[in-house]
Amino acid sequence: MTPLGALIAGRIVERGPMPLDEYMALCLGHPEHGYYATRDPLGAAGDFTTAPEISQMFGELVGAWLAEVWRGQGAPARFVLAELGPGRGTLMRDALRVASRLPGFAEAAELWLVETSPALRARQAETLAGHGPNWAARVEELPAGPLYLVANEFFDALPARQFRRADMAWLERLVERAGPGLAFRWGPPRAEPELARRFPLAPDGAVVECCPAAEAIAGAVGARIASAGGAALVIDYGAWDGTGDTLQALRAHDSVDPLAEPGAADLTTHVRFRALAEAAGPVAVAGPVAQGVFLERLGITARANALARGRDAGGVAAIAAAHRRLTHPDEMGNLFRVLGFAPSNSAPLPGLDPAEPRPGMDR
Ligand code: SAH
Repeated sequence: MTPLGALIAGRIVERGPMPLDEYMALCLGHPEHGYYATRDPLGAAGDFTTAPEISQMFGELVGAWLAEVWRGQGAPARFVLAELGPGRGTLMRDALRVASRLPGFAEAAELWLVETSPALRARQAETLAGHGPNWAARVEELPAGPLYLVANEFFDALPARQFRRADMAWLERLVERAGPGLAFRWGPPRAEPELARRFPLAPDGAVVECCPAAEAIAGAVGARIASAGGAALVIDYGAWDGTGDTLQALRAHDSVDPLAEPGAADLTTHVRFRALAEAAGPVAVAGPVAQGVFLERLGITARANALARGRDAGGVAAIAAAHRRLTHPDEMGNLFRVLGFAPSNSAPLPGLDPAEPRPGMDR
């Protein structure tokens, strides 16, 4: 048992079995033993790799998107450029390299990174040293003004709850003690009218998920963009809507038991984009669009060709492989989706129109 496992077991003895979101919050965010608090999990030597770590093309195209949206909204003279969960800062570094080519963008931008992990804040400080970054622990701490925001593989890392439908009631997934370790069990049946509204067609026995933390953040971002202007780009794995148990624990690029080593493995769930869209409030929602489609619309193939010019065969093959990994439906192209928020009077957001069908959404 890890030190965090012992701490969690002690808490369960004191207070009874804990809901999955409480377990995830401790595993990922505990200030001393939490997964993100204690390490840089990214890259080949870490537990998982993300799109900006695969290729500079990803951040560059996001940078072009941000610059184009800022310009299209009248190029506000001062704005907050923010990223949620920036990891190593790679996406923002690549984005700024491209966006700064648009005259006025870099001068108008005040860079803010919303990050809780001290280990990753240190890493971001190195990567973004030339750009004067500021840090916040929460979206609510961002300074006033138009907000241009990006979040890649952020929402999947937030604590989620799971429930199982049992006849007309719902059972919540709890973590309890079992021998020397931990085990899942289902709690007592409850009515949960909000789940009944969200998942009217879920059959008996179906597992559903909700992520209150993700919805609160989407709500704060949406309210801010509606009142002060700007736009948000959310990229993550998941679907518009749906049911099923998507909890996943990753260690050294392999799936592991989410209860085996609390604090030592990455825990995620798939993002349910409809919940973010509904939580975002009075903004226009654009997308979802599959990542591969989005990147193709933004010109990733032309960018790959430009990067490949003058490279040797090995260099060209590496660029082609990265292009495939980011866009191909068998790789990240279809698993990841992109959603945008903008003020309701804003021009259409680049790359997100037309969107995939959004059953159940009336705006
Ligand atoms: N966006 C990066 C990293 C993704 S990993 C990339 O694409 O490479 C998830 C990131 O979210 C990490 O930086 C992690 O420390 C951060 N994070 C997780 N939970 C958070 C929270 N509640 N508040 C702020 N940042 C969080």
